[in-house]
Amino acid sequence: MDTLAIFGGTPVRDHENAIYYGRQCVEEDDIQAVVDTLRSPYITCGPRVTELEKKLCDMTHAKHGIVVSNGTAALHLACMAIGIKPGDEVIVSSITFAASANCVLYCGGTPVFADIRPDTYNIDLEDVKRKITDKTKAIVAVDFTGQAVELDELKAICKEHNLYLIEDAAHSIGTKYKGQPVGSIADITTFSFHPVKNVTAGEGGACMCNDDELYKKLHLLRSHGITRDINEMVNKSDAGWYNEQVMLGYNYRMTDFQAALLLSQLNKLERFKARKKEIKKRYDEAFSQMPELFLQDSIPESDTAQHLYIIRLNTDKLKCNRREFFDALYAEGTCPQVHYLPVYMHSYYESLGYKKGLCPVAERTYDTIMSIPFYASMTDADVADTIKAVKKVVDFYRI
Ligand SMILES: *Cc1c(COP(=O)(O)O)cnc(C)c1O
Repeated sequence: MDTLAIFGGTPVRDHENAIYYGRQCVEEDDIQAVVDTLRSPYITCGPRVTELEKKLCDMTHAKHGIVVSNGTAALHLACMAIGIKPGDEVIVSSITFAASANCVLYCGGTPVFADIRPDTYNIDLEDVKRKITDKTKAIVAVDFTGQAVELDELKAICKEHNLYLIEDAAHSIGTKYKGQPVGSIADITTFSFHPVKNVTAGEGGACMCNDDELYKKLHLLRSHGITRDINEMVNKSDAGWYNEQVMLGYNYRMTDFQAALLLSQLNKLERFKARKKEIKKRYDEAFSQMPELFLQDSIPESDTAQHLYIIRLNTDKLKCNRREFFDALYAEGTCPQVHYLPVYMHSYYESLGYKKGLCPVAERTYDTIMSIPFYASMTDADVADTIKAVKKVVDFYRI
């Protein structure tokens, strides 16, 4: 890479040993759990999935849990279960993974993007209020980087305007808000178990809710809208073979061996959370000394299972742009990533008519942020090297 030439000498980490922004932590007992399940009679949607749903309910204090094939499927089913349809508007955080808004489009609804707060990067409640119309049906709020959004305030807004609250908790399994686990607070909370998230099933997701009717819908929608429960049927038959499709659902099931992996991973969530708190503390200590960088503000109500660690460039004190800083860090073998392009700036959303300028804070923030390596299995040496690399790049570009 060119930037290596700028610095000369040896990078902090050579490229065979590069550290990436995130990676899974899969251990021997996780692997054994998968192998054991593959040898069992059920390999899809069997006893492990049922056990996993129970465990997620125990952990989050939610009444119901539906495990699905990925976090995007969970968001899609959440929007379907609350009845999003053409003409409906759903307010969505602007700095998030595209799936947080795509789920609204899948149902024919219209995502309306709300700006973020400049300090925590979570959705800005004042902008949410400004964007409510008589077509608004729901809010999709993201626990960005793992920090719980202002759930009490959001619930109050939803109550006042008769809206559903979907909490996209893809980043935040293990987080508590005012002492209460994320998963039991919003109307529907969705999780993702993609390999970069706090715990993984390879691919996987879940919807958590307390409402019995929403649960029934989510359960039907996960598996084609087909039921074996005579109470849910229209053309009732109690014949042993009879099942009936009562709505248009999907196949969003998770396999039992993925569920086994996640069951094993969930036993480690507290350990992962504690390790990431240690890493975050070391980063905070090192980077708060540097006026060239801004750090994400902590939300005091959130006991956070941190998913990403973001640095933001103070462009008054650095003679480089984000691109140059990013490339230089990359050349040092500590490979960052950017989370995220404001969703409406993707060309597909532009083709739907969304325009730049919609969420100025999100756009300004996007221009100066990056996520540096941050995951539970980082060694102390990995952490030290990441700090060293960031310092080296800051020193090089300091004004
Ligand atoms: C990862 C992610 C999703 C989608 O999850 P998948 O399991 O990858 O489908 C949705 N929202 C956010 C904020 C995410 O980070």
